[in-house]
Amino acid sequence: SRSKATLCRWLACPGLLGCFLLGVLTGLFSKPDQKNINSSDVYQNVRQKLVAEMKAENIKQFLRSFTKLPHLAGTEQNLLLAKQIQGQWKEFGLDSAELVHYDVLLSYPNEKQPSYISVIDDQGNEVFNTSLFEPPPQGYENVTDIVPPYNAFSAQGVPEADLVYVNYGRTEDFLKLEREMGINCTGKIVIARYGKIFRGNKVKNAILAGAQGIILYSDPADYCAPGVDAYPGGWNLPGGGVQRGNVLNLNGAGDPLTPGYPAKEYTFRYKVNEGVGIPRIPVHPIGYHDAEVLLRAMGGPAAPDSSWKGNLNVSYNIGPGFTGNSSTRKVRMHVYTSNKIARIYNVIGILRGAVEPDRYIILGGHRDSWVFGGIDPTTGAAVLQEVVRSFGKMKMEGWRPKRTIIFASWDAEEFGLLGSTEWAEENAKVLQERAVAYINADSSIEGNYTLRVDCTPLLYKLVYNLTKEILSPDDGYENKSLYESWLEKDPAPENSSRPRINKLGSGSDFEAYFQRLGIASGRARYTKNRKADKFINYPVYHTVYETFELVEKFYDPTFKKQLTIAQLRGKLVYELADSQVIPFDCRDYGEALKGYSNRIYKLAKKHEEQLKLYKVSFDPLFSAVVNFSKAAAEFHRRLEQVDKKE
Ligand SMILES: [Zn+2]
Repeated sequence: SRSKATLCRWLACPGLLGCFLLGVLTGLFSKPDQKNINSSDVYQNVRQKLVAEMKAENIKQFLRSFTKLPHLAGTEQNLLLAKQIQGQWKEFGLDSAELVHYDVLLSYPNEKQPSYISVIDDQGNEVFNTSLFEPPPQGYENVTDIVPPYNAFSAQGVPEADLVYVNYGRTEDFLKLEREMGINCTGKIVIARYGKIFRGNKVKNAILAGAQGIILYSDPADYCAPGVDAYPGGWNLPGGGVQRGNVLNLNGAGDPLTPGYPAKEYTFRYKVNEGVGIPRIPVHPIGYHDAEVLLRAMGGPAAPDSSWKGNLNVSYNIGPGFTGNSSTRKVRMHVYTSNKIARIYNVIGILRGAVEPDRYIILGGHRDSWVFGGIDPTTGAAVLQEVVRSFGKMKMEGWRPKRTIIFASWDAEEFGLLGSTEWAEENAKVLQERAVAYINADSSIEGNYTLRVDCTPLLYKLVYNLTKEILSPDDGYENKSLYESWLEKDPAPENSSRPRINKLGSGSDFEAYFQRLGIASGRARYTKNRKADKFINYPVYHTVYETFELVEKFYDPTFKKQLTIAQLRGKLVYELADSQVIPFDCRDYGEALKGYSNRIYKLAKKHEEQLKLYKVSFDPLFSAVVNFSKAAAEFHRRLEQVDKKE
């Protein structure tokens, strides 16, 4: 036939035959290409090498380097850090590392007119003023650009009024005051202690109660552990330490001026006074030394019960107003904080997948901090850096993951999750189609007792399996797995045969990805002992005392806890990116749905009359959960039968 003749003529040509043979030989003896490098040997190899590559000493050096100066969002220093991280990610071997900017609404104190709170006499003279700054820790006295304590996005104003103590400023606290104690907060300045709920919700509740202003303070009951010295002698909050933080009610909007859209040059912007979630009253935070002066003079009824009392040496009277010699005095707030559109920068690094490049695993955490960010976020940013370095090393040695890994260093998280939300808004359509999972990389420690994981039920099995492969960093658990120490220290409340895993709420950059885009997400960090440690967050959270030395002296001197978190976050990303079958177990999702629906049912059962009145039935919900669980079991069964040989 004609084709046979053609082939013969081709093979008869010695030059072409030589080329053909050379090609065959090259194929046989060359290094395996990126498609077949994922044979099970090499796969196992990378799985182990990746984690073995991570070093506690490197995390320590990254933490040291990233916490020398403040990195407030919107400042030159934080842009320089973004460029440094971008440069290192390229050096480490990522395929690309780009800065992605947005112009978002931020908020800063007025440098010429400091904010503070006064007690004024009946002539209007200021007889007491709260401090304008925190005494800087040793070695940081000459650092400029330490932002004084403030609540970002506070309204400006100089209200004067009687003070009312509102406990934590929760809905139930205001209900108690208004309905049971007959205390009206309209026109008053309220003082609330930090803790229990997000500070933005305290401000919202104060506005709803009619307050003219709100003072936030840290009570030693919530920000000091018994028997521990104040920083620098220990890790407790000093009396002059003040928690910064934003007081927005964004509900996931990201930049307040461009809800739903990325804050780019071309985007329509609301006017500053139309922004989402910005409070209409002044808010200002103080430390417990200053709070004690204000609270000591309070008149009015006594605290309704012990749950309204903190640990200051005062009676926690409610007010309104002062008593005794101070009864004619009032409180005046001076707040000159202003909102300003500023440019923020995410660093987006990419390690392209070899087999499914259009499937993304995202590992993202913020870089911006209130001051030095010793714990928040830099114990996370330092871990992210070591994880990226290790993945880069594997790639430089010829490996690629099956799926694409996206590393992100987010900006302006402290101002309302802005960098992560804007990027999610800009890429929403692509991410909803292609993103497999999002792993958060904020602070890797908030304590040093045991592991804390919050994630989608799809990741439960993977988290449990991976923690069994990681050595526990805890004293007394030498040669035991992270899973074993975690299980012993924090068993799940509903099933003590496995460690506790929590639902994902909000409060960090996974929010847009999990809550809005519906991408499977998780976070993991070292935490305090939830039973013994009654303080909230960690005592010096968002103060100037969050330094490298705080971590090195008190939280993680060997950096082993942070290394453990690097290993877990790194392994999660690795398995999600490189496993043949994405390691989700959808049967656990069904189980979790069953648990959630039972809990809602039990709550509803407390209101039998209303259930009857509105003809509420839980049957459709329960049957939907059963259907889901059946489908999940069947899907899993078929997955098990898939031929996984490559
Ligand atoms: Zn953070």
